[in-house]
Amino acid sequence: MSKPRLNLSRLKNRVIAIDGPAGSGKSTTARLLAARLGYSYLDTGAMYRALTHFALSKGVSPGDASKLQALAEHLTIEFKTEQSVNHVFINGEEVTDAIRTPEVTAHVSEVSAHKGVRQAMVAKQKEIGKKGAIVAEGRDTTTVVFPDADLKVYMDASIKQRAQRRMIDLARMGLSTTLEAQMAEIKRRDDFDSGRKHSPLTRAKDSITIDTTSMTIEEQVDRIITLLKDVLK
Ligand code: C5P
Repeated sequence: MSKPRLNLSRLKNRVIAIDGPAGSGKSTTARLLAARLGYSYLDTGAMYRALTHFALSKGVSPGDASKLQALAEHLTIEFKTEQSVNHVFINGEEVTDAIRTPEVTAHVSEVSAHKGVRQAMVAKQKEIGKKGAIVAEGRDTTTVVFPDADLKVYMDASIKQRAQRRMIDLARMGLSTTLEAQMAEIKRRDDFDSGRKHSPLTRAKDSITIDTTSMTIEEQVDRIITLLKDVLK
């Protein structure tokens, strides 16, 4: 099947926001979509992970709202995409792999639920997205960070499929786990992220849902490009 084509002149400085639960395929899809469009890619989850990693390394408790807010306000988080890897830096130090450990994953939802942490992070994200030409993904990019995005997508997949994808990611890092353990971990994080008071994960009313359970990454990217074509008509 031929690839969906876009009217490039209408593509200038758009904002595409993608939300969804863990393992729904957002990160890889958003990164590849950004590369196809010549846009930058904003992984907001990586920012919360970077803060969590930094806090844990400094002995700050995931429950300490005021210390975490102060860290969130003062940390410099930067991204550099090179050869399809999204490198992440905190205060100049590379933490690309360190933010993906099970320890960070276990604490990131608690850290990111604090109101002050969210305010600081959302301010940074809005600043990054100000110029447009960006694909952002996370839990609240369609609702809070970029409520006026040109295209809003909610990606979802069955919990079993999402757990299987996580197992592949962890295996790449040399970590083995069971499907049951991953399903339980994903469910715990889903419940926390959807049930929190401040900017919980929800479907924006004007978002388009894509169920990625049986889709390849390429199909997901093509689907969004097709949606974008409709928006830019
Ligand atoms: O997308 P990823 O799984 O890396 O996100 C890690 C965690 O960061 C999520 O489980 C959620 O707790 C938090 N997060 C958030 N808001 C976002 C992106 C991520 O609260 N926009």
